[in-house]
Parts: sequence; structure tokens; C-alpha cells
Amino acid sequence: MLQQIYPSTDHPFQFELNKDFNFSAAHFIPSEDAGKCMRTHGHTYFVNLTIAGDELDHNGFLVNFSYLKKLIHDQFDHDLLNQLPAFEGQSPSTEVVAHKIYSIVQEELNTRDNHPQCVQVYLRETPTSYVVFRPKECQQHNG
Ligand SMILES: [Zn+2]
Repeated sequence: MLQQIYPSTDHPFQFELNKDFNFSAAHFIPSEDAGKCMRTHGHTYFVNLTIAGDELDHNGFLVNFSYLKKLIHDQFDHDLLNQLPAFEGQSPSTEVVAHKIYSIVQEELNTRDNHPQCVQVYLRETPTSYVVFRPKECQQHNG
């Protein structure tokens, strides 16, 4: 399946886990030069999260992925992205949504003692287009 082929990213960590999920949402791009994307329309967004790290938690997990899925899915699924507080003042393009998913996920990961890092967010908006977001630098932890 096309949706399951993802670009990979280099990182210095020993463990890497990937989680697929999808959500359905509507959006519009609020500017004249966005063409027909200006009109409210919907997508089934396919997400692949790549999480990496060197340490595991007490369960032997890098992170419990069902929790991360829930974190995004509960906020975005079956909603109009433009109306969500997460996108206030922003145009919810695929790029912006991918970046927002990264921020939400990494903020949650930062609360974990084993310091997992989100190293890639892959976000497919249509059968023929997707965006990859990668943070410029993984945050370093020494404790
Ligand atoms: Zn769209």
C-alpha cells in the first residue's frame, strides 16, 4: 500500500518506533491564491510518527504509541481544523498540521524520564501529496 512507504531519517538513537494512524478532518486555506483549497473540504489524513531514543521506560517501551495516537486523534478527528485553538491565527496547510503534530507529540515526550524524541512526522493529505516534518536538531538530554 502506497500509504505505508515512508522516507526514513538518520538519527543517532538505538531504538526507533513508527506508528501509523489516520484521522478525518476538514479545512480550508483562507486566501485568494489558494485556488479551490479556499473552499471548505475534507481529507483522511494518514500520519506516520517516528520516535527514537536510547532508553526504555519501565514497561520496556520507548513510548506507548496508543497514547500518542489518542493525543492527536482526540484533538483533530472529525473537526474543522481552522476552528481548533491549535491553529488559531494559522492556515492549516499540510505543512502547518505536520509541524503542529510534532509540537504536540514532542511536548508530551518531554515529560518522559527516558527522553524519547520525535524525529519525523509524515503526513499524507491526499493519495498524491504528503509532507515530512523533521526537527532541525534533536533536543539533547544528559540526565
Ligand atoms: Zn485540503
